[in-house]
Amino acid sequence: MIIEKVVDLIKYYNDRVDNGTPIKNAMRATVARGIRKGIIIKRPCLKCRRKADVEAHHPTPGQPLEIVWLCTKHHTEIHNYAYTKAWIEKQSVKII
Ligand SMILES: [Zn+2]
Ligand SMILES: [Zn+2]
Repeated sequence: MIIEKVVDLIKYYNDRVDNGTPIKNAMRATVARGIRKGIIIKRPCLKCRRKADVEAHHPTPGQPLEIVWLCTKHHTEIHNYAYTKAWIEKQSVKII
């Protein structure tokens, strides 16, 4: 049953976090395990549909199964944007 495999994967993640593994590393390890076990399927890049060099992006920290697939280029782009946005918010600059 796929649901049992998903529960097992969540347990794998929780065990790592409980043992002190940083959330980012635990999420990465969980995705790798999910792919290996055929539970998580890689998808083309959400933005350009490229199939090669696709990476898992996690929009929500602590939600390892909430994945947005992005190619290396667009993964970097979304992170740069996120950091820029955070910086702007920190400076209290209004975007008109
Ligand atoms: Zn892309
Ligand atoms: Zn990311």
